[in-house]
Amino acid sequence: MTQAPTIDNAAVDQLAQGFSGRILRDGDDGYDAARSIFNAMIDRRPAVIAQPANAADVSAAVKFAAQHDLLVSVKGGGHAASGHAVTEGGLMIDLALLNEIKVDPQAKTAVAGGGAKWGEVDAATQAHGLAVTGGRVPSTGIGGLTLGSGSGWLERKLGYTVDNMLGAEVVLASGDIVHASESENSDLFWGLRGGGGNYGIVTKFEYRLHEIGPTVFGGMLVFPRFRAGEVIRAYRDFMETAKDDFGGAVGLLCAPPEEFVPEPMHGMPIVAVVVCYTGKPEDGPAAMKPILDLGPVMNMTQPMPYVEVQKLIEAGNQPGFQQYWKAEMLPELPDEAIDALTTATAEPRSTMTAVIVMPLGGAVHRVSDDATAMGWRGAKWGIHMLGQWADASEDDEQIAWVRAVDAAIQPWAQEGTYLNYLMDEGEQRVKESFGAHYKRMEELKNKYDPINFFRLNPNIKPTV
Ligand SMILES: Cc1cc2nc3c(=O)[nH]c(=O)nc-3n(C[C@H](O)[C@H](O)[C@H](O)COP(=O)(O)OP(=O)(O)OC[C@H]3O[C@@H](n4cnc5c(N)ncnc54)[C@H](O)[C@@H]3O)c2cc1C
Repeated sequence: MTQAPTIDNAAVDQLAQGFSGRILRDGDDGYDAARSIFNAMIDRRPAVIAQPANAADVSAAVKFAAQHDLLVSVKGGGHAASGHAVTEGGLMIDLALLNEIKVDPQAKTAVAGGGAKWGEVDAATQAHGLAVTGGRVPSTGIGGLTLGSGSGWLERKLGYTVDNMLGAEVVLASGDIVHASESENSDLFWGLRGGGGNYGIVTKFEYRLHEIGPTVFGGMLVFPRFRAGEVIRAYRDFMETAKDDFGGAVGLLCAPPEEFVPEPMHGMPIVAVVVCYTGKPEDGPAAMKPILDLGPVMNMTQPMPYVEVQKLIEAGNQPGFQQYWKAEMLPELPDEAIDALTTATAEPRSTMTAVIVMPLGGAVHRVSDDATAMGWRGAKWGIHMLGQWADASEDDEQIAWVRAVDAAIQPWAQEGTYLNYLMDEGEQRVKESFGAHYKRMEELKNKYDPINFFRLNPNIKPTV
């Protein structure tokens, strides 16, 4: 149990005056809920938690932290496994109240508060049959996910989330509130699209929307684990020529204890192909014939609302568990890499851990590498090793297992990885993950945050 942090209470009282949102101190109702995040390993106690109700509140909180020399953390949905959303002893700016979403169905655009969650954005946009590439679990925050580029089932069709970002309202380290788009502060707009939380606090995201569904063809196909190599190889070959309408992934996981899974299978290692097909729903089975022909033991694919596809992996991704992640991006997925992956994952240490192999390409590859700050657009495959378990006493062995899987695929991985899955990799890995854009991003950091006020993130260090 950590010590309750101390803070100048009179100064906090002063901040609270004129603050439209909420100010929480240790012991206040809501303090513990606000400081808890998805990864149960993180147990930190901010001295103060500010929950702004608008951009002016965010600006006041930023200025307060600067004045009192407090380390600031920014919480969107609290999903980053790194725990960067929670500062120990400093000021946490929790954007939970900034979750308003406005959709303009005619213009096909949406404006969403910086603390909104993907489930909320999907619900609001799908009410008009519209969508933007969003996170694969509804409780993920749009803030962290978008600023790290934003990968989702729709990316092969629509590009990353940032490829559909039209603008943002941002509170800078100075406390100034600015707007960034192609025509205003365009350098900042470029940096926001893949730069993590390095340049400021986004209070509003503006997205371009696309006609999707509302009914699409989706679900899961399940195979026994001993067929992992064969299924991943077939999936890879299929995705080489699959239409952009075909999104999804292949995962190595254990059958969840869900009603729809026959009881004898609960906890058994399986291979699951997740399907999100956004062509005509009735064309779904024909579109994935090569995978169906493999003969899954369970076929749960069918026409379903897109919002349900967005919940397909929600049950296996609940808050409150220990988390340890690794991720790699691969230019190609040769047979040798698949063999290494299936061998390393053959004996899972946790029935909650999943290793997901994601096809990139399509619209993601059609955007030029320099269009946004996101590094490494050319990768064809992403592999996310999502270590999850309940008992903290197992931390060491579970972490070792995830690291061993990562080590096994290293020979085929490129230098940097996908920003949103970074955890504890350190400075060098962060630099590598921004790739060739790092220098330009450093210059932007010098311009917009020369004192490194925003540093609880995959940090770009200013050089001024
Ligand atoms: C169950 C689960 C599923 C996931 N699925 C996907 C997926 O499908 N695709 C994908 O790309 N990633 C996915 N991720 C990773 C996820 O995108 C990152 O963890 C991301 O950081 C989460 O955003 P958040 O706002 O919830 O996180 P938080 O932990 O709240 O924030 C992480 C960091 O982002 C910054 N930040 C957040 N909001 C703002 C803001 N409004 N302004 C400025 N900075 C901000 C801050 O630096 C903060 O420290 C998933 C994670 C989990 C746990």
